[in-house]
Amino acid sequence: MCGNEQKYINEAFESNWIAPLGPNVDEFEREIAKYVGANEAAAVSSGTAAIHLALSLLDVKKGDKVFCSSLTFVASANPIIYQGAEPVFIDSEPDTWNMSSEALQRAFIESLNEGKLPKAVIVVNLYGQSAKMDEITAICDYYNVPIIEDAAESLGSTYKGKASGTFGKFGIYSFNGNKIITTSGGGMLVSNDVESLRRARFLATQARDPAPHYQHSNIGFNYRMSNILAGIGRAQLEVIEERVAARRRIFDRYYNELSDLPGIYFMPELENTRSNRWLTALIVNEMESGVSVQELLYKLSLEEIEARPVWKPLHLQPVFQGSSYYRHSENENISEYLFEKGMCLPSGSNMTEEQQLRVIKCIKDSIFLRKVNSKGKFNIC
Ligand SMILES: *Cc1c(COP(=O)(O)O)cnc(C)c1O
Repeated sequence: MCGNEQKYINEAFESNWIAPLGPNVDEFEREIAKYVGANEAAAVSSGTAAIHLALSLLDVKKGDKVFCSSLTFVASANPIIYQGAEPVFIDSEPDTWNMSSEALQRAFIESLNEGKLPKAVIVVNLYGQSAKMDEITAICDYYNVPIIEDAAESLGSTYKGKASGTFGKFGIYSFNGNKIITTSGGGMLVSNDVESLRRARFLATQARDPAPHYQHSNIGFNYRMSNILAGIGRAQLEVIEERVAARRRIFDRYYNELSDLPGIYFMPELENTRSNRWLTALIVNEMESGVSVQELLYKLSLEEIEARPVWKPLHLQPVFQGSSYYRHSENENISEYLFEKGMCLPSGSNMTEEQQLRVIKCIKDSIFLRKVNSKGKFNIC
């Protein structure tokens, strides 16, 4: 928390707006829309709910296909199943770790040949880094299939000067406890299509028809954000730029201290993008470093430092067994490579320099220290 949260919570209590609507909700929506440069925003109970609503608004239903990044948290794809549709997973590419436009193109060509295009494409911006939105948008526009941008991890990031989350028909953000700003739990759906977001609010409040008696012609959801939590969100949004600066500072320190070690390759930041560096992620090439990711995670855990592997690709998840998957190229399976070799370091905005130096020391101690004069670029073997 940053300080002003209590003020907005008190306003909710004093005005007795203890409900999933009220002035904080309205203001939070307006402020987020302004911050990211979208016409409209709808505050909801989670990022997952926002994705679910987006799919619902695009009329995704049983028998439909939805393309989705494979290297992501399971919440990106679960709502596809809620709608009874079928996920098709798309590999990453090395420059951003996000959706490969090559794999996406092949998936489109095949589905066109099968006579069934997807209803939507869910593009994830992993750990704060935007996907290559120009390339992805060009392909989706060509096939006339809408994009849902899963920007749950990338609030505060930009791609070519424009806010991450504003490139698709819909964008979603998450305010879960672990995200760059939080409402303890919550999410936001954004779009330039004001009419669609009006409908999103309607669906999110049990799809109640405009009648004095309780009448329903559609199946809705109970997905609106509490006015108390929206108050927390308003205060958090005031410090988003500080949070991004803090996370980027943490990344820079890791980078300065560790990038010369053999076999350590940090997640790149694509030219003309700004990543919020939600989590500092890197690859460990065991052949060069002398230690595997698993060993490194273990060494860190002995020091009571919590680090994690990168997301397990969804096409490898037991729950999605049998789903289609399109890899980057015939010989390159980038998401599986990243899963095998990648890890995320502790990156909390409130991490102190001392804490970070402890992580750095542990990694340095663990790695076979040998001087390398020249290192190749990020290299997929
Ligand atoms: C956190 C997250 C979500 C889900 O957000 P919730 O608010 O936790 O429902 C979706 N996608 C990605 C990539 C996430 O990291």
